[in-house]
Amino acid sequence: MNKFSRNLFRELAPAIVRTGNPERDAAERQHVLEQCELVIQRIATEPHFKDPERFLFKAIRTRFLFQDQRWVRQVIDRRLGEFKLLVLEDPEAIGVTLNCAAYSSRGRPCRKQAIPGLGFCEAHQDWAGVEAEAVGV
Ligand SMILES: [Zn+2]
Repeated sequence: MNKFSRNLFRELAPAIVRTGNPERDAAERQHVLEQCELVIQRIATEPHFKDPERFLFKAIRTRFLFQDQRWVRQVIDRRLGEFKLLVLEDPEAIGVTLNCAAYSSRGRPCRKQAIPGLGFCEAHQDWAGVEAEAVGV
């Protein structure tokens, strides 16, 4: 999983604005790396994490020149898109255990592990069909 946040960071890092102050530059880079790690972690563990691309872009955009921001967003969209697909299709290969996306009758998220490719645990398998209908798949 770290591989994905590091690859994302490595692609973005050369464009991070330099201030000429080494300590500040290191802190800015650290911020971007931490945000990449956070978003990758959340995608892997929170089935209801909406629009991670926008979340990450907002968190790091000020560290880049205005004219680079469009490119930054494209990099984020592409890298996170690839990662989201992997999480869905082959979570074990990237060391991810995705939680079930269903809610209990009390409205709490189900804590069981989801079946790879389904997004729901064994007890909530039938939710997969319901959600697909709801979004018109
Ligand atoms: Zn469940």
